[in-house]
Amino acid sequence: MEPPAQFTSTNQPSATHSKLIVGWFSFTCSEDSTILFTELLNDHFDEWKKLVEFRYLKALKTRNSLEGLDVAFIEGAISSEKQAAEVKKIRDNAKYIVAVGACACTGMPSASRNDFTSEEVTGKIAWYMSRFDYSQKVRKLEDVIKVDDKVEGCPMNATTFIEVLGKYLKLFNIVT
Ligand code: SF4
Repeated sequence: MEPPAQFTSTNQPSATHSKLIVGWFSFTCSEDSTILFTELLNDHFDEWKKLVEFRYLKALKTRNSLEGLDVAFIEGAISSEKQAAEVKKIRDNAKYIVAVGACACTGMPSASRNDFTSEEVTGKIAWYMSRFDYSQKVRKLEDVIKVDDKVEGCPMNATTFIEVLGKYLKLFNIVT
């Protein structure tokens, strides 16, 4: 894989820290990949706590930071300009971005409303649209920011997630 644009010849991934610094983020979605991830901790917590620093993971802790992420895993589609701004900020703070789950990878099923006909936009839907300042269209992650990897599935394919995590553990020389 090519290094992302923010790497220069002097700051390629290397063993600069002993753990992979990871963030986990959720946008418009049912957060089932987050639930699946926490289920994976039943089997992998002891192993991962030696290798991974979960610097941003609101599902598990209250003190979180965006600073200096090696890899940001992002689930959910982007459904407002506020979310678009937030995800761009994550991109600016993370060396690599992994889209997690169908909503982040393809937009669907969260983007179903993009195909509503005007007849289908009832008063109740219009009320939600105005109340929560949604953007006109729901977008997949790579419509807003550069994405380096994808873990497809609805929810995410757990085996693929473990493979992708392992790939970055190797890329950053955390494991050999
Ligand atoms: S991809 Fe599926 S499981 Fe994941 S957030 Fe979207 S709808 Fe939920």
